[in-house]
Amino acid sequence: MKIGVVAMQGAFREHEQTLARLGVETLRIRRPEQLSQIDGIIIPGGESTTIGKLLGDFNLMEPLRERILSGLPVFGTCAGMILLAKEIENSNQPRIGTMDIKVARNAFGRQVDSFEVDLEIPEVGQEPVRAVFIRAPYILEVKPNVQVLAKVDDKIVMARQDNMLVSAFHPELTDDLRIHRYFIEKVCKGL
Ligand code: GLN
Repeated sequence: MKIGVVAMQGAFREHEQTLARLGVETLRIRRPEQLSQIDGIIIPGGESTTIGKLLGDFNLMEPLRERILSGLPVFGTCAGMILLAKEIENSNQPRIGTMDIKVARNAFGRQVDSFEVDLEIPEVGQEPVRAVFIRAPYILEVKPNVQVLAKVDDKIVMARQDNMLVSAFHPELTDDLRIHRYFIEKVCKGL
């Protein structure tokens, strides 16, 4: 099992460290040829317009979209979630656009730029997950084929559609390994 981490900009090192703690090998993805060497991929948080632009500049956008559409397991966190959404409210920024969700960027408002909350995520475990949100998006709408995994109030912050998993928060910034383990075991290995 080898997991690619898109290494354009943002929190890719933190994802590598989390996967290393799970004993999972990683590969920093910067070239299209690397996409044939991995069993899953993580798109980190950061700045979605920057990562989207760089994916285009590095000729990764189209090949990555094709690999995801043909089943490559993918986990998008925060900016990564924005890049996977088919619809982004008030934005025509470049995107991978494979998942049937509509997202709003920086959606929790200026007063609460960053916050942490204990999230109930029954799919991931009984104990709540401490979730770190940084200028976070949330999901405004999902199609019926999308499974909602977690909400903050009425706002969807984690969801799955087949091989695609997204979270509005940053599981790579806490010591809790359960979300990455869920990605590896359920989404990548289909256990
Ligand atoms: N606000 C960023 C964006 O819109 C996402 C923030 C993050 O990834 N922590 O791209």
